[in-house]
Amino acid sequence: MRWSKAHLFTQKETPADAEIASHKLMLRAGLIKKVTPGIYTLGFMALKAQRKFESILREEFEKDGLIEILMPVVHPAELWQETNRWTEMGDGLARFKNRNGQEFCLGATHEEVITDYVRHDLKSYRDLPVIIYQIQTKFRDEIRPRFGLMRGREFTMKDAYSFDVDRDAALDSYDLMHAAYKRAFDRLGLDYRIVKADSGNIGGDKSEEFHVIADSGEDSLMVSTESEFAANSEVCPAIDVEDVVYGGTEELALEEFPTPGLRSIADLSKATNTEEKFLVKTMFYSVTDDQSKDGLSPIAVCLRGDDEVNPIKIKNHFGLANPAELLTDEEVKQITGASPGSCGPVGINIPIYFDNGLKHFKNFVVGANKDDFHLKNVNTGRDFQLKEWVDFRMAKEGDKSPDGKGLLKEVRGIEVGHIFYLGTKYSKAMKATFLDKNGKAQLIEMGCYGIGVGRTVQAAIEQSHDEDGVVWPRALAPFDVHICHLDPKDEKVDEVVQDIEAGLQGLGIDVFVDDRKERPGVKFKDADLIGFPLRITVGGRGVSNGEVEVFHRASKEKESLPIAEVVSKVGMLLNN
Ligand code: ATP
Ligand code: MG
Repeated sequence: MRWSKAHLFTQKETPADAEIASHKLMLRAGLIKKVTPGIYTLGFMALKAQRKFESILREEFEKDGLIEILMPVVHPAELWQETNRWTEMGDGLARFKNRNGQEFCLGATHEEVITDYVRHDLKSYRDLPVIIYQIQTKFRDEIRPRFGLMRGREFTMKDAYSFDVDRDAALDSYDLMHAAYKRAFDRLGLDYRIVKADSGNIGGDKSEEFHVIADSGEDSLMVSTESEFAANSEVCPAIDVEDVVYGGTEELALEEFPTPGLRSIADLSKATNTEEKFLVKTMFYSVTDDQSKDGLSPIAVCLRGDDEVNPIKIKNHFGLANPAELLTDEEVKQITGASPGSCGPVGINIPIYFDNGLKHFKNFVVGANKDDFHLKNVNTGRDFQLKEWVDFRMAKEGDKSPDGKGLLKEVRGIEVGHIFYLGTKYSKAMKATFLDKNGKAQLIEMGCYGIGVGRTVQAAIEQSHDEDGVVWPRALAPFDVHICHLDPKDEKVDEVVQDIEAGLQGLGIDVFVDDRKERPGVKFKDADLIGFPLRITVGGRGVSNGEVEVFHRASKEKESLPIAEVVSKVGMLLNN
């Protein structure tokens, strides 16, 4: 391919609305172009990179006998109503009506459509197991689309769905997909981690995410310093810390004391000369999914002053569809009679949950439920009844790893893949059954598996770039070789370029030729920005000496090679 005919325009200036390196570089290198927030046109290079990843996925899935189909982008409301996700998905689902008033949505995911697809034909246990996938456009009306292809409204997803006779078989399918994902991501040569994850509102109880490690990643991950343990911070268990012990052994007399204007843990810590981790804070959440209900379903959560509540853990504890919501100051006041900052568990009439981090606390300080007053020498059981000890806090760096090996360390990740064991949530809602060996109807056990195709391509750039531009990993590079053709008008030089191009193509190597009327300096800068693995410079002076220059984008090493050897040498470099 020749640049002069490629409709490719690079950009020197850093785009104003791009925050992270990969987004800036994708715009500057002409890989993508914004149409409107969260919606992009992929240029030929981004499309080529995406296609390379799709080929890797298809190859790995073929090894396991997966079936590829293509489901529609437009879904009828009725299918989503069957699972109640027409309501549950809220504003994330883009809906519209056709001329007859019939309601539709744009597919944000395809559990409903695939379950409908199989339930009509799947009759017997003999038809199982089956795993079906597609590579298709999704639309989610993200609140804050950002970072280019990382969080788009419209994006390409590879989604797969497994159907099995029982839980064990479904978990085998899950393991099969886990292994296939691992093979595919290994082939990209990226630094990635597989972490325990939350199932979100998709259902089921087992799920893992694949994360490309990058400082700009939106997800916080907890990894062990000494073992393979890794979890999304959203679900990472927080292990009881025995060394945080407070308040002695004897229960002392309860006492109220004034704390004028002291509403934050930091202020209270200073005024009482007590470390934040030895104070107890009380937070209020509502644990209901019923948004329409007038009454709340409030609970109080007590935890150490330096810990944070994890609303996803509350969601999972109560089996909610969405993370628990914090009560407003007004709602807190109705329950406690005081403003947040002066509240505590004594004398309130709602269920009280104590985080495990407080297991070794006695005679502690809490808000008095009276503005500007606190209580000291408070003790569970004597001064109030607690409903349950729970793990409701965020795990943090330095905590013990839940597997008992090493300590937790935080790293940032970009979620590129997510696998779920679903159980029978969808088959039950949509009456998808098969007849077992005894001729009895049983619900199909399901799993679902997603990979963000565009997000993965961008994550590769986020992980692999330098100050000059993209440094493509070979597996995703739109082209393997970038020829800087310095004298396109010179017939002899052009002949050498054509020979090298044809020779490399014969070895299955993708070649891009910069044959524009530009100065060498401009061409080199653009080659660095676009970042294909190898650059070959062919110019008049070199050709008259029988030589060309080969430049390695990642290491920036240069070498001169005789023209006669360049094809075989580059072929060896790339194909090994
Ligand atoms: P996120 O937490 O990032 O919003 P999700 O957990 O909602 O993603 P899944 O439903 O698990 O996403 O979708 C499967 C995969 O699709 C994700 O692992 C991710 O790689 C990709 N993906 C999800 N949302 C987007 C998006 N808005 N833009 C690009 N890729 C996305
Ligand atoms: Mg996910």
